[in-house]
Amino acid sequence: NKTILLNKRPHGKPSLDDFKTVSEEVPTAKEGEVLLKTVYVSVDPYLRGRMNDAKSYIPPFELNKPIQSGIIAEVVDSNLPDFKKGDFVSGILDWKEFQTSKGKGLNKVDPTVAKLSSYLGILGMTGLTAYIGLTEIGKPKEGETLVVSGAAGAVGTVVGQIGKLVGCKVVGITGNDEKVKLLTSTFNFDHAINYKTTPDLKKAIKDACPYGVDIYFDNVGGEISDAVLANINKFARLPVCGAISLYNETEVPIGPRLQPILLTKSATMRGFIIGDFAEKFPSATKQLAAWLTDEKLQFSETIMEGFDTIPQAFLDLFDGKNKGKMIVKV
Ligand code: NDP
Repeated sequence: NKTILLNKRPHGKPSLDDFKTVSEEVPTAKEGEVLLKTVYVSVDPYLRGRMNDAKSYIPPFELNKPIQSGIIAEVVDSNLPDFKKGDFVSGILDWKEFQTSKGKGLNKVDPTVAKLSSYLGILGMTGLTAYIGLTEIGKPKEGETLVVSGAAGAVGTVVGQIGKLVGCKVVGITGNDEKVKLLTSTFNFDHAINYKTTPDLKKAIKDACPYGVDIYFDNVGGEISDAVLANINKFARLPVCGAISLYNETEVPIGPRLQPILLTKSATMRGFIIGDFAEKFPSATKQLAAWLTDEKLQFSETIMEGFDTIPQAFLDLFDGKNKGKMIVKV
């Protein structure tokens, strides 16, 4: 029974030696417990923050203790009335092949309704983040221009598609030409920009958005966001969802001062943590599932195979190796 622990706290970009794999006996389910077998593991950029020894909205991982993330597991033994052998559940669980649980925080997921892995992506945390962040904070209206960074990732692909469903013009920013093509074909974006090869991003955004930017859904922060901010319209809304370009910085980087832009544009910039919107999860999941059934939403996943690949899959997020949701199949 393999377990992946936090071996040391990364300084800057994480690397494989920040993780350690150990083996132990497969536990047995005691009274009031289930035994779970890990099937799919979600790796997510926010886990980087939990690897620092810093106070945040969620406590840091402890050294030499298992890393945790969203996991889909199969119930292989149960001493709990609500779960039976063969059920599939999702929850924030340890990076272990097998583990016991008292059932707290476990939600049953149905493989006959949707692919199991989709409960970690479009019907899970990233889908909810896209839908709730865009609708509650971005408040998109037909005819407006929506720019999304991190556009080809798990959150970004869903944000852009919902923008299109609402009737927005949607422009995505991403890190390679294959993803640019994916965005404008499979995901129906109007335009996509490769931030790595575009010399003048501010101008490229201006050209792609001749009427300016009404909503900027920010997944990355840093210089990409500076370039978008230079193009916002009056009354723009800016949901700040993520800042992956800054997660590995060891010093606080200084960018342009935003106050004059926000002030003169009467713009609203608002950070959010999806966990604070839990009361909206049931209705949001229902809407996402309905769009999926009607094929109004597409989703893509990059699935790595094998328990041992979990740390590498996590590192690959910072090199943009994923298209859509990054998942490990154990
Ligand atoms: P993604 O699927 O988008 O994967 C991360 C992507 O980020 C990579 O594929 C890569 O794409 C891009 N990236 C990596 N490094 C950089 C960089 N230096 N500059 C610009 N882009 C970079 O991840 P998620 O969809 O899961 O998450 C997207 C963002 O949303 C993250 O910042 C995450 O922390 C945040 N988030 C926030 C939540 C909240 O509650 N607020 C909840 C869930 C996610 P590319 O090839 O385009 O560079």
